[in-house]
Amino acid sequence: MQLNKPGIYIHIPFCRHKCNYCDFYLITNLNIIDRFLDNLKKEIVISSKFYDGSEFDSIFIGGGTPSILSGKQICNILDVIYNNFRISEKSEVTIEANPEDFINNYQRLSEVEEAGINRISFGVQSFNDTELKFLSREHNSHQAVEVIEEAKKHFENISIDLIYSLPEQKVESLINSIETAVNLGIPHISAYTLIYEKETPIYNSMKRNIISKNEDKYESELYSIFSDKLLQSGYCHYEVSNFALSGFKSRHNLKYWEYANYIGFGPSAHSFWNGKRWNNFRNIIKYNINLQKDLIPSENEYRLSSDEMKTEFIMLGLRSKGINLENYKKIFGSSFKDEFSSQINEIRERGHGEIGTEYFSLSEKGYLLADEICARYF
Ligand code: SF4
Repeated sequence: MQLNKPGIYIHIPFCRHKCNYCDFYLITNLNIIDRFLDNLKKEIVISSKFYDGSEFDSIFIGGGTPSILSGKQICNILDVIYNNFRISEKSEVTIEANPEDFINNYQRLSEVEEAGINRISFGVQSFNDTELKFLSREHNSHQAVEVIEEAKKHFENISIDLIYSLPEQKVESLINSIETAVNLGIPHISAYTLIYEKETPIYNSMKRNIISKNEDKYESELYSIFSDKLLQSGYCHYEVSNFALSGFKSRHNLKYWEYANYIGFGPSAHSFWNGKRWNNFRNIIKYNINLQKDLIPSENEYRLSSDEMKTEFIMLGLRSKGINLENYKKIFGSSFKDEFSSQINEIRERGHGEIGTEYFSLSEKGYLLADEICARYF
């Protein structure tokens, strides 16, 4: 049932400090990086025997803050992957990076490029200094612009993350961030709403009424501004939160949305392989101990039932390019159009989706209600 080539994700769980809205698994003690890297390489080697014969065409080094690593450390990780997995010649190799790791140190951009990275994704979040301070980020907007200008000398394929719907965020401020990104010629932009994850400092501030979450209506308005502005600027809206100029969709992220296989290395990394899901321990001590005993550091292995796979396939498809009708038939042996004809008609009548020869996809209006539509109809 394999649809696209699989991808490899590597989680580097280190950051210099924890941002006040973040709930990713990460560690701020950078002294244990070397030990972690030894175990990471071991995990890659001992896992590789299970994937003999599969050819991968994307590698994504995420985190955390992988740009904390030196060029040599990145190069060593990639070497271990290339020596143990079959990787396509023209693979997409992405690293997530924070602008502050390159300020006054542009040489590091060459090192990252020379290590074999061909796509860089910056955690910019905003081009407004007050907003960056609110998010407890360590760079300012001027520095982000400078680093991106410099990065353009090394990478054609650049992405940035922007966060919107901050408390009291003005429309003008959001427009300024979007226009700055567009004017910089950044070919891929991810737009995320600020999520108040439980137990984070901003969640606690909201609970104590120090800050307040925007009303849903205002949040939707900001989302529409985001997507209208980028569509007008020539970007394709290819997933609820992702926009790309032609030729710059993220091959790796498309794997998650198009139900392709992927394997994850590093603490808390998730994997999906032929209908089976599992995750690595979300704890670096447990992770290290298992690898010292030559054990794969994973848990919660679970084979999805056919109904669960169907729901996931539909949900992921609706949030991105749409439900690929041919792939649906290949995987589930039935026709999506026949099985869900009444739901399709209702969604179309409301102007929330459209059926074509290859895909059933949501409209821009439908994207706004993607979660509701998935829950209500599928
Ligand atoms: S840099 Fe990214 S991963 Fe690290 S704490 Fe901030 S938001 Fe979380």
